[in-house]
Amino acid sequence: LHAAYDPDNIFAKMLRGEVPAVKVFEDDVALAFMDIFPQVEGHTLVIPKDVEARNLLDMPADKLGPYMQRVQTVAQAVEKALQPDGVRVMQFNGAPAGQTVYHLHFHILPMVDGSETRR
Ligand code: 5GP
Repeated sequence: LHAAYDPDNIFAKMLRGEVPAVKVFEDDVALAFMDIFPQVEGHTLVIPKDVEARNLLDMPADKLGPYMQRVQTVAQAVEKALQPDGVRVMQFNGAPAGQTVYHLHFHILPMVDGSETRR
């Protein structure tokens, strides 16, 4: 769960501009982009910049507040843009918990009445 941060993970490459991303928000603290395999329409990911955090458990506490502020900003923007009936925010730590990419990210899923997802 507490392995070393791999600077060649796909989101780190995205932050360096080495792989493309459909960006929807960016400032000095965080980047938000569309998930490449969306579980629902509008599935968005928010990642912190300038920090080597594999997941929430590794995130320096002093950087968490500003980052979570951006998670909220993006969730509000998704809600405003898509007018869903609900917004699911999720985050996984470690493979058994469902984590597949090891740079901290929060998922934002706009949900509509009657929609079902695998998690
Ligand atoms: P996790 O399971 O680690 O919480 O979620 C990782 C998410 O990243 C998955 O929803 C997956 O679809 C998404 N993802 C993986 N590789 C890429 C990529 O190269 N680009 C984008 N935009 N999303 C990715």
